[in-house]
Amino acid sequence: MIDLRSDTVTQPTPEMRAAMLDAPVGDDVYGDDPTVNSLEERVAAMFGFEAALFAPSGSMANQLAIRELVQPGEELLTETFAHIVRAELGAGAALSGITTRTWHSPRGLLRASDALEIARPDSGPYLVSTTAIAVENTHNFGGGTVQPIDEIATLRAESKKLGMAMHLDGARIWNAHVASGVSFLEYGSHFDTVSVCLSKGLGAPVGSLMLSDKARIASARRWRKRFGGGMRQIGILAAAGHYALDHNIDRLAEDHAKAHQIAAAIAAVTPAVTNPAHVETNIVVLDLSSLPISAAELNADLKAAGIAASALGPNFLRIVTHLGITTAEVAKVNEVLPELLNRALKLQ
Ligand SMILES: *Cc1c(COP(=O)(O)O)cnc(C)c1O
Repeated sequence: MIDLRSDTVTQPTPEMRAAMLDAPVGDDVYGDDPTVNSLEERVAAMFGFEAALFAPSGSMANQLAIRELVQPGEELLTETFAHIVRAELGAGAALSGITTRTWHSPRGLLRASDALEIARPDSGPYLVSTTAIAVENTHNFGGGTVQPIDEIATLRAESKKLGMAMHLDGARIWNAHVASGVSFLEYGSHFDTVSVCLSKGLGAPVGSLMLSDKARIASARRWRKRFGGGMRQIGILAAAGHYALDHNIDRLAEDHAKAHQIAAAIAAVTPAVTNPAHVETNIVVLDLSSLPISAAELNADLKAAGIAASALGPNFLRIVTHLGITTAEVAKVNEVLPELLNRALKLQ
């Protein structure tokens, strides 16, 4: 199977496994694991933060961060298709009493004005008060969209004046950095909290980090334990993270090139389905609403040809490239997929 469902399907390479095998470890609940401690220090420094906390998933890193910024009954704003509101099973409400409101933007592309228009800080005793805004970069369901740094900076400046905090869901901030050339320090400088994932394009088997100041990280460490995320000899996992940061950031450009090639092959037969100019990173989203074929049907046809993708809506299919996908596999996708789309066109 050519597995393009997600960049979470990557297998740790033999070299990464060797690094895990050799890692010095200790009991992290006692703060004794040298490998996770050095990973937390390393990633905090990369983004210009005082401290970091290793988490077992990106969802937990996001949830720990937003609960540090938003009190029960207060409000977090984000984009309608953001992971925090679409793919974390209502955790903000279920675990932390956080309410959310969303703005919609095509491709998830951030415009500061969209967020500021619906923001209601200090709403008094009658209306919900907005206390934080979350930005997803890259935007997953938007199609790997890289957020414009000037819009992030504007939103930061304006929301700061209004006393609102900002969280970055940076599960794929590595991809944003490689595509845009904006430094990790610059990205970090606009946010109070950041989450990053090691287990997506970077290829580690497990691991995310939440970044912030020392006080919030100390508090988040207690909440991680309450959430059942206190872990022991996790240097084994942190070693995979160190390896991923050493070896797998720059190579993301290859994944981006492959995604772009796939988008170009699709657009050559069905330009309404995807726009290669919008494929900036490793995600291609297909809008099938102009074709007489559903995402589930196309997905089944792809599967029969040995290709796995994700049907995320009735007309919405997602393809994600990653370090496990070879050039030859991309060539095969670029043969099969246009052929299937052509067949769908003839049904019209
Ligand atoms: C994958 C992802 C996460 C975290 O997902 P987990 O499966 O919980 O690790 C968070 N945000 C975005 C945008 C993601 O794509």
